[in-house]
Amino acid sequence: MSEKTQAEILKEELFYTPDHTSYFCDDEEIAKADNFCEGYKKFLDLSKTEREAAAYVLDLAKKEGYTEFNSDATYKAGDKVYYLNRSKALILCTFGTESLAKGAKIVASHIDSPRLDLKPNPLYEDSELALFKTHYYGGIKKYQWTAIPLSLHGVIYRKDGSCVTVRLGEDEGDPQFVVTDLLPHLDKKQAGRTLDEAIAGENLNILVGSRPFGKDKGSEMVKLNVMKFLNDKYGIVEADFLSAELEMVPAFKAADIGFDRSMIGSYGHDDRVCAYPSVMAEFEVKTPKYTSVTVITDKEETGSDGNTGLNSAYLKHFIADIAKTQGLCGRDVLRASECLSADVNAGLDPTYPSVHDKLNAAFINKGIVVTKYTGSRGKSSTNDAHAEFMSKIRTLFDNGKVAWQTGELGKVDEGGGGTVAKYVANLGVEVVDVGVPVLSMHAPFEVVSKLDVYMAYKGFKAFLEQN
Ligand code: MN
Ligand code: MN
Repeated sequence: MSEKTQAEILKEELFYTPDHTSYFCDDEEIAKADNFCEGYKKFLDLSKTEREAAAYVLDLAKKEGYTEFNSDATYKAGDKVYYLNRSKALILCTFGTESLAKGAKIVASHIDSPRLDLKPNPLYEDSELALFKTHYYGGIKKYQWTAIPLSLHGVIYRKDGSCVTVRLGEDEGDPQFVVTDLLPHLDKKQAGRTLDEAIAGENLNILVGSRPFGKDKGSEMVKLNVMKFLNDKYGIVEADFLSAELEMVPAFKAADIGFDRSMIGSYGHDDRVCAYPSVMAEFEVKTPKYTSVTVITDKEETGSDGNTGLNSAYLKHFIADIAKTQGLCGRDVLRASECLSADVNAGLDPTYPSVHDKLNAAFINKGIVVTKYTGSRGKSSTNDAHAEFMSKIRTLFDNGKVAWQTGELGKVDEGGGGTVAKYVANLGVEVVDVGVPVLSMHAPFEVVSKLDVYMAYKGFKAFLEQN
C-alpha cells in the first residue's frame, strides 16, 4: 500500500465527502440490512393503502404488547400504547423514564401513497365495455398509470351499515384491472401534446368488464353483469359505491432490483420506506429515557388536510392526553419535544442529473438524507430546521454509526415539495426532515437502496433511544 500524500490526508480531514454506504458497513451489517429488507418487502405487498398499513402495523404492535391508550390510566416507563385514528393513522408510544416535561422524541412518517381513487359513482358502460371513473390521489405523472396491472383495495359500507373489505388483484389467480392507452399508430395528436396533457385526468378510466349479462338483449348489459358479480361477491348494490372508499393501486409485488439485488422496486416506497423502519425502531425501544412517539399518518400526499392528516389536531391532542397522565400541560411537552419528519427525498438519477445541484443532491446508497428545508420558490412554505438541531442530529447519527447525507429536493428554480415537517413545527416542536432517497418517486414502481432502508431504521432507533 502506498503512503497517503499530505494533500490526501488534509482532504480527508477538511472536505465533506459522503461515502457509499457499503464502505460504512462490514459484511455482517450488510447481511443484516438485506435481511431487514425481506420484512420490509412483505410489508409493502400487504400494505398498499393507509388502511392496510395501519391495520398491519396495529396487528404487529398488539403482538409487541402495545395496548390502546387510555387517558385516565397512569403509565410507567416502558409501557407501550397505541392510538388509532379512524383506521387510517396510527400513533405508537413508549413511555420514558424521564418526565414528559422533558419532551417526547417523535418520528412522523406517512402511509398514504399516490394512486387512483374511484369516484363516488364510478361504474359505467361505453361501447359494451364496463369502466370505472377515477380521480387521482396525490401527485402523479398520469401517463405512468396507463397499461399497467392494477388491483382494487378499500372498504364499502352497505345501506344497512355493514362493511365489506376489498382486496382484489393481489393474489395468484385474482383478476386485475387496467387503464387502456392509445396505440402508437394512432396517437399523432396525443404524442404532440405535452407529457402533462397527453393523458387527461378524466381519461384515467379503468377497464373492469366486457361480457354482457345472460342472453337477454338490452342496454347496459355489461355493466349489469359487473354489478351482478359485485353483488354476488360483496353483497353490494350500485348505490353502495357512494359510501365506499375504493382505490386502484399497482398490482406489482416488491422485487429485488439489479444483478446484485442491492435495491428494491415497489409501489409505495414513499413513504412506507420511512414508516416501516420507524415502526421497527419503535418496537425495539424498551425503556427509553424520553417518551417515544411514532406516528404513521394519512393524507400527506394531498397536503395533510383532513382529520387523519398532520395538519389536524390529532397529534397535538394525543400529546396533551399523554401529558395529562403525568399532570402536565400538552403545550409544555410539545415545546420540549423533538421530531424527525420521516419522508423520502429524490435520489439523483444519472439519466436526469440536470434537475439537481450535485453538491446538494441526495444519492441512493449514501445513507439517509437529512433535509434542512423543503418548499419551493425561495423556501416558501417550509420548516427550515435550525442549525442547533441540525448539529444535534449530525452528532447523534455520527455517534450511532448511521450513514447519512444532506440533500435538497432539486435545484432552486426546478420545482419543490413539502412534507409533514411544517405541521409538526407549527406545534412548537423542533423538527428536521430525515428519510430515504428514492428513484422514480411517485411512479407506480419506485426504487430504493436496501442499505439506505436499513440506515433509516438505525437512524430512527438512535433518535428514539438517545440519552
Ligand atoms: Mn412522502
Ligand atoms: Mn410523496
